[in-house]
Amino acid sequence: MSESTRRDFLGAAAAAALPAAAQTSPSGLDFPLEDYHVHLNSLTIDQVAATSRERGVKYGVLEHAGTKENEYPVVLSNDKELLGWIEKLKDKGVYIGAQAEWIDWVPCFSKEVLAQLDYVLTDSWTVRDANGKRIKAFSAAYDPGNDPEAFMKWYVDWIVEILETTPLDIWSHPMWVTRKFSADLEKMWTEERMRRVVLCCKNTNTAVEIDSSVKLPTMPFLKMAKSEGVKFCFGASSQGARINPIDWSIATARELGLTRKDMFQPAPWGRKPIQIRKLRS
Ligand SMILES: [Zn+2]
Repeated sequence: MSESTRRDFLGAAAAAALPAAAQTSPSGLDFPLEDYHVHLNSLTIDQVAATSRERGVKYGVLEHAGTKENEYPVVLSNDKELLGWIEKLKDKGVYIGAQAEWIDWVPCFSKEVLAQLDYVLTDSWTVRDANGKRIKAFSAAYDPGNDPEAFMKWYVDWIVEILETTPLDIWSHPMWVTRKFSADLEKMWTEERMRRVVLCCKNTNTAVEIDSSVKLPTMPFLKMAKSEGVKFCFGASSQGARINPIDWSIATARELGLTRKDMFQPAPWGRKPIQIRKLRS
């Protein structure tokens, strides 16, 4: 055996000895890296596409969607606006998404147009205030009361209501609680509450975002969700100034031992949540 053949042979043998994951991706994971939570705002879609090539990460780009009662610089509120968004992102090498707001967004659009999106994501950051009105739970105006238990009892019901009444692909910023109580987050998310939400994600086939921006959900929740067969995706909630790294999501996936079969993929046409979900009214 010549020296170069020998080197090739040893190289091939060494590669064969590595787990499949290490051969396919520098992340050590056996699936391609994707981040489903990029907002454009001041970024252009071409900048996102360039970053995607540079970093080897495929991005899901989204815009807020729902009624105009939701206060964001842009809220897509009808078929025409949604189609414009889809047109803008088409053929750019990204997944085309919408971040649905609140629970009254479905009637804003036709099923046919909604189903043209690769995915719909939502979070539970917009909540009902004491009078039942929508309010952003991260805003200074929001008063969650002084009793974390009372808040949590209400909040878990709200998360379940969102998941059961709207046709979602992804639940974002999972487990996040309002700043006032965030020091007690792990205590407030009891095993029973986690199980209720995990089973709800499972039954509604909603994937859970492994969120590098707020570093949630917690490991006990993730383990429970994995054992129930819930799917996961990565997200870093980039808000337009730059595209945030997904290092925490990658490290968490490694620690959890996630493989390709655990990861969310946009449903094909005909299998979109808007096309197949039976929603609780
Ligand atoms: Zn977002």
